[in-house]
Formats: sequence, C-alpha cells, structure tokens
Amino acid sequence: MPAMKDMVNGVPRYRHFINGQWTDSTVKEWIEVENPATGAVIATVPKGGADDADRALVAAAAAQPAWEALPPIERAKLLIGLSRLILENRDRLARLVVAEQGKPLTEARGEIEGTALYLTYAAEEARRITGDIIPSDNTDEQVWIQRVAHGVAVGLTAWNYPAALTTRKMGPALLAGNTIVIKSHEGTPLSAFEIAQLSTQLDFPPGVINVVSGTGEGLGAALVKHPIPRLITLTGSVRAGKEIFRSAADDLKILRLELGGKAPFIVAEDADIGAAVKAAIASRFENCGQICICNERMYVHERVADEFTEKFVRAVKALKVGDPLTMVDVGPKFSGPELDKVERMVKAATSAGAKVLTGGNRLTEGEFARGHWFEPTVLTAVDNRMPIMQDEVFGPVIPLMTVTDFDEGLRLANESRYGLSAYVFTKDMRRLMRLVRELKFGEIYVNRPGGDAVHAHHAGLRHSGIGGEDGKYGLDAYFQKKTIYVNFA
Ligand code: NAD
Repeated sequence: MPAMKDMVNGVPRYRHFINGQWTDSTVKEWIEVENPATGAVIATVPKGGADDADRALVAAAAAQPAWEALPPIERAKLLIGLSRLILENRDRLARLVVAEQGKPLTEARGEIEGTALYLTYAAEEARRITGDIIPSDNTDEQVWIQRVAHGVAVGLTAWNYPAALTTRKMGPALLAGNTIVIKSHEGTPLSAFEIAQLSTQLDFPPGVINVVSGTGEGLGAALVKHPIPRLITLTGSVRAGKEIFRSAADDLKILRLELGGKAPFIVAEDADIGAAVKAAIASRFENCGQICICNERMYVHERVADEFTEKFVRAVKALKVGDPLTMVDVGPKFSGPELDKVERMVKAATSAGAKVLTGGNRLTEGEFARGHWFEPTVLTAVDNRMPIMQDEVFGPVIPLMTVTDFDEGLRLANESRYGLSAYVFTKDMRRLMRLVRELKFGEIYVNRPGGDAVHAHHAGLRHSGIGGEDGKYGLDAYFQKKTIYVNFA
C-alpha cells in the first residue's frame, strides 16, 4: 500500500486517507503548506476535487452500517486507543502543529493533550447513549425514543487548532456510530493526516475515518454538496458558515456551525485589577490572538481605567515575541493574508482616530525578516461602531474603551453581531446575576481567563454559530432520534 507521504524535491508530499488507504488524488495539483514563522514550505498536500470527495464519501457510507452496529463500547475502545497513541506522540505532533500553525510549543503541547482528551471524553459516554421510554396512551403498547447515528458526517476545520478540532469532531461523530470525512483548513492539513496515520495502528474498519485535503471552495464545497453526508459540522468563519448554509439547503442537511467571535472584556470598578490584567493578556495574546473566544475588545470602568491601562500596557510591552519553538509568549500570525488583514484593520482604526498605546506595526527586522509577524498592540480612543470594535481581528491587537458605568459596558458589549464568548471582572453578586441574564453570549467567563471545558458546552449565539460542541449537548448533535410504537396485544 502507498505510504502517507513521499519526498518530492526534498519536501514531503502527502496523500489523501480514504477507505483505510493512502490514496493519490485524481487532481494532479498541490497545495504548499508553509511554516508561518519562517515562510518555508514544509510539505505539499493534494488539492483535492469533486472526485476525491466522492471516493471518500462512498467509502464512509459503505463502512457506516457495520460501524453503527458495533456495541458503542467497542467503538469507544478504538477511540481510547487513538487517544493513547496521540499522547505517546505528543512531542512530535506538537512540533508539527508549531510548524504548520505557528503557536508556541508549550501551547501546542496543550493542544495535543486536548486532542487526546476529546477522544477519551467521547469514549466515556459509550455506556450513556440512552433514550427514553414513555407511556403509551393505548393498552398493550410500548413507546420509546432511541438515539441513532446520522450516517456520514463531514468535518470541516479551521487552521487555529488543526489537531484538536480534528478530534473534537471525530470523537463524538464516531462514538455515535457515524463515519466521517475530515477536511482541515488547506493551510494546516498535516495534523489530521498524522492522526489518520496513527489510526492505522488500530483496528478501525476501512472507511470509518477518512481525511482529505483541498480548498474550501473546491473540495470543501464538493463535500457539502454531495448527496451522501447528512451532517456537516464546520468550525470556521461566518463567511464559510453562510456559504455552507446556502449550499446545504438543497438537500436539507443537518448543520453545526461553530463560527467566529468578538468577545467583550468588561472590567467593573470593583474588579481585582491585577487578576483582570493577567486574564486580559492571556485571553488576547495566546495563540497570537487567534482563538475564537479571544478577548477582542475591552470596556473598562472610568474609575479604574488609568490603573488598568497602565498595568495592561506594561504587561503587553513585556510579552516576548519570537520563534515559537523557544520560550516565547507570542508567535507569528498564521499567514500572509491574515497578517495583511490585521495591519489593514489597525491602519483603518488609526485613520479614524484611534490612538496606539503600544505596538501598531508589522515586525520585519532581524529574526522577523521571514514569516508573518505583528507587534502586540493596544489601541485606545476607539468608538464602538469602528470595524476594530465590530469585526473579528483574530490577531495580537486589542482596542480599549473607557465606560462610565457597568450598564454602558453591558450595552456596548451586546452591540455586536457576534455572540460566542464574553469576559467580566466584578465581585458584585447583583452585577453577576444581571450579566448572566443580559449578556447575549454563549460562553461567559467571570473573574477568570478563557478556556472551555471538554464536558461543558461551547456554543455561539447570533452570528457566532448554530449548534455547539462538547459535553452532552455537543455529543447529542451527532445523533438523530427515532420514536418506536410497539403494539403487543
Ligand atoms: P474558514 O471559514 O476560512 O475555513 C474553515 C474551514 O471551512 C476550512 O477547512 C475551509 O477550507 C472550509 N471552507 C471554507 N469555505 C468553504 C465553503 N464554501 N464550503 C465548504 N468548506 C469551506 O475559517 P478559518 O480562517 O480556517 O478559521 C478562522 C475562523 O474560525 C475564525 O473566525 C474563528 O473565530 C473561527 N473559529 C471558531 C471556533 C468555534 O468553535 N466557534 C473555533 C476555532 C475557530
């Protein structure tokens, strides 16, 4: 059988993983995968097309009935096996994530632990795939509701967590008895291929896991349009979510859309300022600001604004930017177009009157001559209607506004089309209860930095998505329900 990859001109060239085999694409075009820190091409992958989508989905469909017929605990054992192999390869996989995505190595190690955890969490649910038995209105009749798989799922993932997002979809999908075709973002396809490679050491039936590579508008769109998959689960941009929504409408496919965010960070006048500064830094600059739940805009009460701003800017200036394989706080932006977008947004904000408190520019000298680098940046004198306060930056840039009271902070936080996460620092119980009631966000962090739990629920409101992942509600999305009426008179 062909290998996962061959060396071509000194660079590894990967194949698709379809039906348990490493398979050449019928399209003889390749995508170059770039290291964001150096700009070097580290691999090439197939730029798959409609034919590849068809082969992967046909394989997944053929494998699905027997996979669903297995007792869930047997499926779970395979997920636990894969989780173990991922942890055994933790360092190698973490370095691969750094190479294709650019986050600092310590964070990449954390990502790989999360990658394993999504599988073990799903596996733990194997003995809890329960339904309901309900009384019938008729004599000698039994009624029950049973959870069954959708069939074939397609998982489309974003570039910011290429390994973890793969298993966040794969774990619950497979545990529920679906088979899956994964297409990672075209810039970060390697982690998913390596996870597929690890799966070949276990007894997964061919076709249960399929991993293919290609662009969103090419292969991604072909996977969504294909008649086989019933469930499409996307983690990505609002733009892609809307396109997929439209294109899935013809077949009335079931969608889970985990999209972008624009998290507000509210600092009340009674906040613990030291803790708020620390959390605001972590929640903005981790992964170079490229997390859907990142702190994207700050509202600080005027009574504590001077103290907060002084301490926050000092902490931002102390952040170490550099080679993500060394001990740094902030690595490169993921890609050239992403870097251009951040620069454009900062320039537009300053042209409209925003003031730069620190940073504001690309880094281009010395060790930053290659790759995609931007200075950690704090902006002030912003207005809530500016694009920098309304559009997702997804980079190391944070605008800060002073507010006159808690109500203004709440109001401005809600003035957004996004609704994924929000942060609040206050010790006041009445304020806490008000924000639980009034903030229109799916995930609210009070007096702490971000970081969602595998057994909670990660769901965006408004334009941040439809559905939600993790925990019992996330798993439930991978099932459909059948109701059975049995008359035994
Ligand atoms: P993206 O939308 O460009 O791509 C996401 C995936 O969808 C990729 O695999 C891409 O190839 C595919 N795709 C794009 N257009 C498609 C189409 N028309 N049809 C089918 N597939 C298509 O997003 P990105 O730039 O990779 O990711 C960044 C975004 O993801 C940010 O907005 C971020 O907030 C969001 N995100 C959300 C979550 C969450 O859980 N809510 C988590 C991580 C990232």
